[in-house]
Amino acid sequence: MTQSDPIPHPELEADCDRCFGLCCTALSFSRPDGFGHDKPAGILCHFLAGDYRCSIHPRREDLGYEGCIDFTCLGAGQRASQQFATQNWQRDPTTRRQMFARFAQLLKLQEIRQALIQAKGLVVSDQQEEERGMLLAAVAKIADGERDSGDDVDVQTLITRAQALITRLAKASSSDRF
Ligand code: SF4
Repeated sequence: MTQSDPIPHPELEADCDRCFGLCCTALSFSRPDGFGHDKPAGILCHFLAGDYRCSIHPRREDLGYEGCIDFTCLGAGQRASQQFATQNWQRDPTTRRQMFARFAQLLKLQEIRQALIQAKGLVVSDQQEEERGMLLAAVAKIADGERDSGDDVDVQTLITRAQALITRLAKASSSDRF
């Protein structure tokens, strides 16, 4: 590693070996966005193999699936999958919907978690750092915890607070430069 390499954040890394192919199942996608076919949310991509791996993985670019290459779940997939690993989500549509809902929640949590980590470079006061650290810890607790550790209202409130802080930090940082 050189000095200019970014600091690794394992908590934001996708682990496809521990995921049930949720990005290839739960999410929708369409041709104009860099996918070779249109797919509604909740339906398996027809290239997803039985072991939850992509059967065209080395050929995705050639076949027009750049959108798959560009996408990262930031670790949402394995978190949601492992929380439902012992349940019969394959046969039970209600459980499957719950897993997809938790995946959607985790996508938002991991995205704001990344933004809060990156916002460290914008912090200029102890008070801002305290608020950033408190929000980051709260987001991590829900993202790394059990699926019922935060309902959607709590999660959305937390995300809104984090977004407000990041916006304030970004504005202060850009006004400092002029
Ligand atoms: S093409 Fe492969 S990576 Fe893309 S959604 Fe389908 S199975 Fe997943």
